Amino acid sequence: MAAPVIIERLAVIGTGLIGGSLARALRAAGAVTTIVGCDADPRNLEQALSLGIIDEAAAGVAEAVRGAGVVFVSVPVCAIPGVVRELAPFLEPGCVVTDGGSVKAAIVEECERLMPPGCCFLGGHPIAGTEHSGAAAAFASLYSGKRCILTPTDATDAAAFDTVSRLWQAAGAQVCCMEPGHHDRIFAEISHLPHVVAYALVHAVGTADVEGENVLSYTAGGFRDFTRIASSDPAMWRDISLMNREALLASIDGFSRSLAELRSRIDRSDPQGLAEFFTIAKQFRDGIV
Ligand code: NAP
Repeated sequence: MAAPVIIERLAVIGTGLIGGSLARALRAAGAVTTIVGCDADPRNLEQALSLGIIDEAAAGVAEAVRGAGVVFVSVPVCAIPGVVRELAPFLEPGCVVTDGGSVKAAIVEECERLMPPGCCFLGGHPIAGTEHSGAAAAFASLYSGKRCILTPTDATDAAAFDTVSRLWQAAGAQVCCMEPGHHDRIFAEISHLPHVVAYALVHAVGTADVEGENVLSYTAGGFRDFTRIASSDPAMWRDISLMNREALLASIDGFSRSLAELRSRIDRSDPQGLAEFFTIAKQFRDGIV
């Protein structure tokens, strides 16, 4: 038996990895009838259309949101409020606007204020992704078995929350809720800090001078596993770092203290202290895999 249609018309603003994958997943689940896309990059939009990710390519956001029951904004975090400001005057009454941005407090605060009467903004963040970008990187199973965090507030309409939850569930995700600021502090630790550290590590090793050798040419599995996320889009991580600045700075300070402690145990040739430090870290790591 076919799954029930949740909404007739979905607008995806930013038809890249995140927006394109949601479109693919919802189409595969039979949860939407028509998907219209809009993208600042005309080649990416054309690719989304030719790959069958979207049914219609809109020339701008006004055209994209016309008649849409849900608008999913999946552009870089710094661009989300501007996109929502641009599309808000063209929303149909009852429309729900949601996003997939990796930072929530600043986006939710601004976008809720931009909603016209009868429309609702609900922040979202799928905990799924790859280091690749664009429509060609999108795939239907990206969200399967992954979490999607929604960040409702007192202003969130219950029906809007229900619609967005059902869409993510149809895409295969497990929905959970968080207060926007709490989300940003948690993701500063478990996502934004690891990206910053991976970039810093590759930067340090790439610019290291060991008797004129190209040190990177000797790297093997461990280095590559650890640094995979340093191949992520630099512009995306610039935006996330700036938008979650305060929480990320606090996480970097915590990491710096941890690294300084480790350095000091190495410096004083403290075998027991080092073993304890590594054992505690190993136990945390073993506990999550
Ligand atoms: P992406 O593959 O680069 O796709 C984003 C698309 O949006 C690009 O084609 C981009 O065009 C376009 N765009 C930029 N500004 C726009 C605007 N003002 N109006 C319309 N289109 C615009 O990026 P993504 O990986 O899907 O990321 C999208 C969002 O998802 C981000 O907010 C990110 O924080 C979030 N997210 C990403 C991941 C991940 O692993 N990638 C995971 C979870 C959440 P240009 O290339 O020309 O800028």
